[in-house]
Amino acid sequence: NMLLEIKNLHASVIDDTVENGSKQILKGVNLSIPAGETHVIMGPNGSGKSTLSYVLSGHPSYKVTSGQVWFKGENLLEMSPDDRAVAGLFLAFQSPVELPGVNNANFLRTATNSVRKARGQEELDAVSFLKLARQLAKKLSFPTDMLKRNVNVGFSGGEKKRNEVLQMSLLQPSFAILDETDSGLDIDALRIVAEGVNTLQSSDFSSLIITHHQRLLDYIKPDYIHILARGRIIHTGGADLSLQLEKEGYGRFLDEIDE
Ligand code: ADP
Ligand code: MG
Ligand code: MG
Repeated sequence: NMLLEIKNLHASVIDDTVENGSKQILKGVNLSIPAGETHVIMGPNGSGKSTLSYVLSGHPSYKVTSGQVWFKGENLLEMSPDDRAVAGLFLAFQSPVELPGVNNANFLRTATNSVRKARGQEELDAVSFLKLARQLAKKLSFPTDMLKRNVNVGFSGGEKKRNEVLQMSLLQPSFAILDETDSGLDIDALRIVAEGVNTLQSSDFSSLIITHHQRLLDYIKPDYIHILARGRIIHTGGADLSLQLEKEGYGRFLDEIDE
């Protein structure tokens, strides 16, 4: 029961600094994630972690040059970004956008309803949406007045991440990619984001968590940890791998692929 299957994925980014330029970043990524599992990707800066999450979300600046991605048995790379969300994919960006003049509750309701509609679920009117959003916010220990403010405007780093976790809970994804959702969070915010992810855990929900921080893994227990370096997954281990990486760094694993 594979939810996501990435096979020999090669991708390049459109390089704005060079005319017609592109730069090969992913160089043969293989990764399979069954339903219900939590996978973590760690790796040196610049190794292609964010590129992988952008490619999976269908970001227009990234081009797949070869390989395949199957999501619930369907060809993910042929789906529009909207269709990917409807199919159950959710990506929490490294830096969420601020939308001045856009009320957060209205924004979240529009996003929620467009996905619900496309999935054939009942759309929520303003009253029932607020009820649901407040309920979820409470469960996630988020201040409900975040709903009244403009989207991410003047939010602290921690509040932006909380808002993303709230959006994720509203959209009910079956697969979430969190790209350094923990960066810049203090320890309490980190725990709350982790608990938000944990409340979604079920046999129908999988996640791919990209992080530099061992401490996030005090709260989220992964089934597997993968090391992405130089555009490929070079090693896969269990939850203990992060402790080893914290002590020893990536050096040994990089030496192995250099041999
Ligand atoms: P990571 O998330 O692992 O730190 P990224 O996927 O962000 O790595 O970046 C991989 C490589 O691609 C880096 O060398 C980075 O500089 C380069 N890169 C990413 N986006 C662009 C871009 N828009 N233009 C040029 N180079 C880019
Ligand atoms: Mg980085
Ligand atoms: Mg990154």
